[in-house]
Amino acid sequence: MHVNGIGIGRGTAIGPVLRMPEPLAEPAEIPSRANPAVDYERVAVALAETAADLMALGARAGGEAKDVLDAQALMAEDPAVIEDIRERIDSGRTAERAVFEAFRSYQYVLELAGGVMAGRAADLRDVAQRVIAHLLGVSVPGVPRSDEPFVLIAQDLAPADTAMLDLTKVLALVTRDGGPTSHTAILARAKSIVAIVGAAGSDQLTDGTPVIVDAAAGTVITDPSSDEIATARERASRGVEDAPLTPGTLADGTPITLLANVGSPNEAAAAVALGAEGVGLFRTEFLFLDAQHAPSIDAQREQYIALLRAFPRQKVVVRVLDAGADKQLGFLGHTHEENPALGRRGIRALRDSEQVLRDQLQALAEADAATDAELWVMAPMVADVEETNYFIELGRELGLKTMGVTLEVPSAALLADQIVGLTDFVSIGTNDLTQYTLAADRMLGAVSRYQDPWHPAVLRLIKLIGDAGATSGRPVGVCGEAAADPLLAVVLVGLGATDLSMTATALADVRAELKRHTIEDARDLARRALGATSAAAARQVVAAAVLG
Ligand code: PEP
Ligand code: MG
Repeated sequence: MHVNGIGIGRGTAIGPVLRMPEPLAEPAEIPSRANPAVDYERVAVALAETAADLMALGARAGGEAKDVLDAQALMAEDPAVIEDIRERIDSGRTAERAVFEAFRSYQYVLELAGGVMAGRAADLRDVAQRVIAHLLGVSVPGVPRSDEPFVLIAQDLAPADTAMLDLTKVLALVTRDGGPTSHTAILARAKSIVAIVGAAGSDQLTDGTPVIVDAAAGTVITDPSSDEIATARERASRGVEDAPLTPGTLADGTPITLLANVGSPNEAAAAVALGAEGVGLFRTEFLFLDAQHAPSIDAQREQYIALLRAFPRQKVVVRVLDAGADKQLGFLGHTHEENPALGRRGIRALRDSEQVLRDQLQALAEADAATDAELWVMAPMVADVEETNYFIELGRELGLKTMGVTLEVPSAALLADQIVGLTDFVSIGTNDLTQYTLAADRMLGAVSRYQDPWHPAVLRLIKLIGDAGATSGRPVGVCGEAAADPLLAVVLVGLGATDLSMTATALADVRAELKRHTIEDARDLARRALGATSAAAARQVVAAAVLG
């Protein structure tokens, strides 16, 4: 059996499947026929076992994860919750329903409180799921643990789960949902996890089934033959081919700076080793996905210094916190939204918590003063001139020298002629630009086919930005996943991109492709793509022109 999806990267992995248990269904609201005293005893045991499990997990994980898990263990032993559950059992609820309702009532309270408290509501939900799983005698939801390496199969995976995966055990990741530019996919790419997303049919795979995960082909092969395994092993051992680490240039010598997307200073060394000429996108929110409180200026400054030191006299573009949608930060006061991708995201959320933004800009200015990298700072999700001016003026007030914006909201791309000249630089976020232009949630596997930056509607918006960059003399970067597609990278240059930033592992292929084309070739390819009527047609017309 073959299961197909969208491969992330080009790796191959071989191993047995282990499924991530689905979230538990809400326990039915039916009258209990059990003896309340017996049910109460079962709940007490389940709560104690849950607390013990969480403490043990924390002890194994260490660091910040331990703090989070210890706090969850305390929630499972909170006397007020236990009393609430007892009252609900006494009034006729089943044990499972009583646990569900008691935890839910506390979740509501936390969600209403907003801010850091709202972030804790998800932790409470997780504790409740664990307790109910104990009561039902089923697997606890969450990433499974195993002493043997395995291929993780999940409906979807939160970015925080992906960031915490034990890569000595998880050989590959296959999700039924999720698109190629979801943050889980981005993290998988950055961590070189072999992954396939949007793999409909992966929910049919059963624990222990041997599989080959071939990300380049976007295929999971079940029960492979020994020949298939031998071929896959050979491919897996070949790894990334060595290529000279020269700066990015076109065939005619036009420089195109090739930069890395990073989510932590720890990724800097690997990016340098893969020939990154600097950083084109540092997603600072990845540092704080688990943070309970806004990070201090001191703590932030140390992280920024660590990154800037890895790139002496080179450009490092830092994006201020882009929270919201699939990256909720409790300390920015996120509460439930029906359509979070259209909600309080990026600069919108930061403006509502201006002190958090000021502190981050302050920490960046201090890190800049302490190092000799070229620090550029940009805001996510700006929609128009007013938001651009707000951010740039604030950055200048706090002493930052090079200020720009990410262009990823279609309104901002349409107004590029008004916006670009106000900045020192812009960077195009093709992931969001595609999601918003095609009105297709980048998190949703069911619409992942729309998440294709080759779409001429997206390319036309990029052209508006490229033209505005040329008119105003401002650099135009691309930091979305589109830059990692070698042929599309050439088209982006033809549309006016002056630098490209991507997962470092993609640099070699993009560098090699750029070398094959002059700026005139790139513009010609861009013209062809702009005239296509679909993403597939654009890709095809460019591939045909290149391959002859
Ligand atoms: C983008 O939207 O293309 C981008 C680079 O930012 P993120 O993927 O973090 O939203
Ligand atoms: Mg974005």
